[in-house]
Amino acid sequence: MSASPTQPLRRKLLLGLAAGAAVTSPAALLAKPLRSQARIVILGAGAAGIAMANRLRRSIAGARITLVGARAEHHYQPGYTMIASGLWRPERVLSSTQQWLANDIDWLAHDVTAINARQQWVQLSNQQQLGYDLLVVATGCQLNYHQIEGFETSMIGQHGIGSVYASPAAAQATSTQIDALIAKGAGRALFTLSDTPLKCAGAPLKMTFTTVSRLEKTGQRERFQVDFFSPYQNRVFAVPTYNEFVLKRWQEQSVGFFDQRLLTGLDAHSRQAFFRHKDGSTSKEAYDFIHVVPPMSAPDVVKASDLVWQDGPFAGNWLEVDQYSLQHRRYPNVFGVGDVIGTPFGKTAASVKMQAPVAERNILAFLSNQPLNARYNGYTSCPLITSIGRAILSEFGYEGKLMPSFGFISPTEESWLVWMMKEQMLQPAYNAMLHGKV
Ligand SMILES: Cc1cc2nc3c(=O)[nH]c(=O)nc-3n(C[C@H](O)[C@H](O)[C@H](O)COP(=O)(O)OP(=O)(O)OC[C@H]3O[C@@H](n4cnc5c(N)ncnc54)[C@H](O)[C@@H]3O)c2cc1C
Repeated sequence: MSASPTQPLRRKLLLGLAAGAAVTSPAALLAKPLRSQARIVILGAGAAGIAMANRLRRSIAGARITLVGARAEHHYQPGYTMIASGLWRPERVLSSTQQWLANDIDWLAHDVTAINARQQWVQLSNQQQLGYDLLVVATGCQLNYHQIEGFETSMIGQHGIGSVYASPAAAQATSTQIDALIAKGAGRALFTLSDTPLKCAGAPLKMTFTTVSRLEKTGQRERFQVDFFSPYQNRVFAVPTYNEFVLKRWQEQSVGFFDQRLLTGLDAHSRQAFFRHKDGSTSKEAYDFIHVVPPMSAPDVVKASDLVWQDGPFAGNWLEVDQYSLQHRRYPNVFGVGDVIGTPFGKTAASVKMQAPVAERNILAFLSNQPLNARYNGYTSCPLITSIGRAILSEFGYEGKLMPSFGFISPTEESWLVWMMKEQMLQPAYNAMLHGKV
């Protein structure tokens, strides 16, 4: 059997990830697991919660580790843009939560409905109250579609409405709506951005780029108008290098750019979208296809708890943690990992891969009454798809500093190689992260 052309690269990338694990894993640093009888509760059985459960179970002996989260189906969300771009079937991102969990992890398939950080207990949707000595909050982002007037998630896939974020089915329905626009032979596609932190903030840009690719493929690109509406001034992405790249490319591709306009509502039947401008004025825009990006926040249960940021840019919306140690700033026995945390960057699965070993190491230090020395540097990454078949490996950290991992991949140039990474190699790396192995 002949090797595929990507196999040597794949080996190099996965070995790169494995090498990182050898350096960073506390389990590797400790001759044997820490002994502790702590009751550890992890909230959220998504990417971060599963990775933390698997890591802590290996590095701590004697503790009772309980993972809390009702979702029985696991979703590989980085694959959603591939589905919504008509390239993957939804099945490719589906697995079961159970299959990622080691046998001795106690998984309670209920959501948390209340958190009492002072008294150290959480309440579950089955009314069970669970006490803890150490809490890891990993409940991800809440998609606040309800804040867009006239919108319901059931509309995704109808009336020209798409949204890559909601679910694998929504991503599939988004692709179908883009197909319908193409089948019309002409029309206007609107792409939007919300004014909150977003998980994978590159996804709305990727959706614009892959749609333009699909329209170009028809040979009649000029018959379609593509416009992007951003609430920010001259900005669609927080890192200047990538922002400038995207805006320049859109100019070349005749993608209209309208800034300081926030989507506030839509009338699905007449296909009109309503925007509020920075100066307070409003406008309405007709569309044939619209890509909706919801405002996001921590889940309501976190927002209603004392764990939420009390002041600053994340007040009332995101979990309060120290951005370096990932420890809660007021409740030292609480740590946060993943999309839920209120930090300047860090809402990608690649961020979780870097955060999980930091949180693990600091949890072990906390349980041993040692100083918390591990630091998360804000590492965030995603392949910014610029067309079907090309992408840039964007990697950056706090202050928007570029953080390229591979000497042979430019952090600012598009390539087929990065596309292949996205298409074929990131899912195995993500799976290794879930197992707590990188
Ligand atoms: C369209 C899209 C494209 C993306 N592309 C990329 C990419 O290219 N590269 C990349 O690195 N990342 C990408 N991501 C981001 C990545 O998927 C997330 O950053 C990652 O999943 C974060 O993990 P998490 O555990 O914090 O959140 P999730 O994986 O979303 O898990 C959160 C879990 O918490 C659960 N939960 C919520 N509320 C409660 C509650 N009250 N009680 C208990 N459990 C609760 C949820 O059900 C869920 O299971 C993308 C995401 C999307 C949506």
